[in-house]
Amino acid sequence: MRVLFAASEAVPFVKTGGLGDVAGSLPRALNAAGADVSVILPKYGSIPQEYQDQMRHVTEFYVPLAWRNVYCGIEKLTYKGVTFYFVDNEAYFKRDGIYGYFDDGERYAFFSKAICEAIQNVPELQVDVLQCNDWQTAMAPVFLREFYQGSWACRNVKTIFTVHNVKFQGQFSDKVLQDILGLADNPTAASQLYVDRDSINYMKGALLYSDLITTVSPSYASELQMPFYGEGMDAIFRRRSNALRGILNGIDVDTWNPATDPLISHRYAVDDMGPKAQDKAELQRELGLAEDPTRPLVVMIGRLTNQKGLGLVRYAMNRLMDRGVQVAILGTGDKDQEDAFKYFDWTYGDRMAARIAFDNALSHRMYAGGDILLMPSEFEPCGLSQMIAMRYGTLPVVRETGGLQDSVVPYNKFTGEGTGFRFANMNADEMADCLLGACEVFWTDHDAWAKLQRQAMEADFSWDRAADEYLGIYHDLHPEIDR
Ligand code: ADP
Repeated sequence: MRVLFAASEAVPFVKTGGLGDVAGSLPRALNAAGADVSVILPKYGSIPQEYQDQMRHVTEFYVPLAWRNVYCGIEKLTYKGVTFYFVDNEAYFKRDGIYGYFDDGERYAFFSKAICEAIQNVPELQVDVLQCNDWQTAMAPVFLREFYQGSWACRNVKTIFTVHNVKFQGQFSDKVLQDILGLADNPTAASQLYVDRDSINYMKGALLYSDLITTVSPSYASELQMPFYGEGMDAIFRRRSNALRGILNGIDVDTWNPATDPLISHRYAVDDMGPKAQDKAELQRELGLAEDPTRPLVVMIGRLTNQKGLGLVRYAMNRLMDRGVQVAILGTGDKDQEDAFKYFDWTYGDRMAARIAFDNALSHRMYAGGDILLMPSEFEPCGLSQMIAMRYGTLPVVRETGGLQDSVVPYNKFTGEGTGFRFANMNADEMADCLLGACEVFWTDHDAWAKLQRQAMEADFSWDRAADEYLGIYHDLHPEIDR
């Protein structure tokens, strides 16, 4: 099964969010599961020089983009057994940042078309399945069907479009139809891209043209069909619900392993949890919190944006502090959120700490030193923090949405089952009740807590599980190819 995985970012070359992690890890797991996966990315100027030095020129050609003919070089390198192809055009991609330029609609239409041209023009690139990710690659399934369907190399290519976050859709003025996409005189195609009288939406095109649609958790796949979560695309997700699948992401279980993690001082494992208490004591000291093993230490790590349900935390903070809970937050994001948590840090002294920074090493120490990870997200396509926390025996308290619902098994006090705690509604009192309920177990039932930690740490969040599921759907698309 030869798969081309198209994305606008991938670790270790370039990352702004979860997509980068997925594109960096999933292809390797798929290759281990028996597929033959390559990745195609833009060659950004910000890719570290050590990787740029390893790239080898494969070929070059010109990509037709409406009235333009645009140069495109293809370079490649192999990283941890996976071949990465890079689309080289310095005018589009040799810039300081990644996204957010006035001509993003043109840059990523070019990238999407270059992907199709690469399938056609690079002989070593044989493709059975083209998997595109998010709006930056969304036009590729459209172009493939409209311009390349007849070519020998593209005829049998099946397409998958994966939604990592439906909030970002790539919506532009309909001038792009004539000027960039070259689809103005193709009314059938054009009508599928329009979202209102004068706007074109790239993601809508992919949702209608791809053979299959996937997203990063089964619950998010259901939620996308609801107006509350669907960001205007819910009707299309409903229409295509037969072609929609949710596959929960994995995490890199080698990087996130409390038994081997070089970024924490005291390593521990399921059968040797003692050192976790030392990590907690050190973290309390580092953050200026009271060094007290009996205080539940609640950590939060993530972007400080409305998506993450921070309003609930702000509302409940007083109550949590009064009950003797410690809260530590690491994150950056919206200014008003940052300011609110700085204020709490200042007000509550040794009970609350806010670190407004992006600090990977500190995040490891917090996953290891915390007792509870709080994640009350309004929506969460998959979420990685809760899975990482469970791997470190730090029990998650989450709202029942998207991947949080699919990865955290709620505590059942009668059977002892569970890997964390869940609440249903966007309600601060409900969240605080749930969190204080977790603290109650922490305070009063040591055995139940230890059992939950064990169950959380033993849950399988590896990419192998996700890779098996992806391989299954590739074979649904190509039943003629042997497994
Ligand atoms: P999202 O993709 O919505 O940002 P996820 O939970 O899926 O949220 O992934 C966030 C990832 O980024 C996690 O690995 C988390 O540890 C990491 N992270 C987020 N904010 C920070 C920060 N300020 N410092 C260090 N790591 C962070």
